[in-house]
Amino acid sequence: MSYKYLFGPVPSRRLGTSLGIDIIPYKTCTLNCVYCECGNTTELTVERKEYTPTGKVIAELDDLLSKGPHIDYLTFSGSGEPTLHKGLGKMVSFLKDRYPNYKIALLTNGTLFYDPKVRIEVIGCDVILPSLDAGTKECLEGINRPHPNITIQRLVEGLKELRKEFKGEIWLEVLIVPGMNDGKAELEAINKHISEIRPDKVQINSLDRPATEIWVEPVDQDALERIADYLGGEIIGRPSSIREADSFDESVLERIISTIRRRPCTTEDLTKILNVHVNEVNKYLNYLEDSGKIESERRERGIFFKMKR
Ligand code: SF4
Repeated sequence: MSYKYLFGPVPSRRLGTSLGIDIIPYKTCTLNCVYCECGNTTELTVERKEYTPTGKVIAELDDLLSKGPHIDYLTFSGSGEPTLHKGLGKMVSFLKDRYPNYKIALLTNGTLFYDPKVRIEVIGCDVILPSLDAGTKECLEGINRPHPNITIQRLVEGLKELRKEFKGEIWLEVLIVPGMNDGKAELEAINKHISEIRPDKVQINSLDRPATEIWVEPVDQDALERIADYLGGEIIGRPSSIREADSFDESVLERIISTIRRRPCTTEDLTKILNVHVNEVNKYLNYLEDSGKIESERRERGIFFKMKR
């Protein structure tokens, strides 16, 4: 059986060997973050519906997991916001009932947890990894460019309610965008929200690769460490560390290298040419860029990657 909705397993810096479950079409999201590695959101929405057939996703999971592969986490993630899918609860329940030995993770922007139905659907997950990049309305609008229904109050209240109801772990990610959320006032506002949300972990991240918007830059390591200290968080490890992971697939790496050696490609080109999921391609590009082996160039059609001379 070939899989349309599953990708990997991929080496994840936070989740070890992670099988990606992508249930939302490219690129449907409640936000349009300036740093998104998947490009601009083409469908900005808060409408929950069955974006992909729930039965087919379950059939793929059943087929793959019945072979008993080694996987640390089954991870709902992908190129959009997974909580937009109305069948998410059904998929989580299936996995819990049928494959209780596998742990379930949810990578989410956290914006829909104000809806009690969404909170109930994710209750069977083992770990939820939401994001909170802003403390104020202005910053949320500047960095995350949300759907008009999403406000900072709704986002924070939703996460606080989730904390009350959800018994698993919450690892809250804060991605730092210099000039936007690294100033004293914004960090104070974020810190206040964190103290109310009470996540199990705070994970601080910085841009690895060229973002959707040209002006977004990575934070220097000293500043990142100061911010992590202030927010009581840990810095998410560098992409170069993932090569030791069992799930690091040298053949995917080699295919990417040999393709961009012939001609520079965008992430989307590589996804189509190699038939590899966009998130998986992103992991290997992150690794290659962090290791100084490739460089990128912004052109009219997008960001192109090529080997360094
Ligand atoms: S929430 Fe995630 S998928 Fe959506 S725009 Fe932001 S980074 Fe991209």
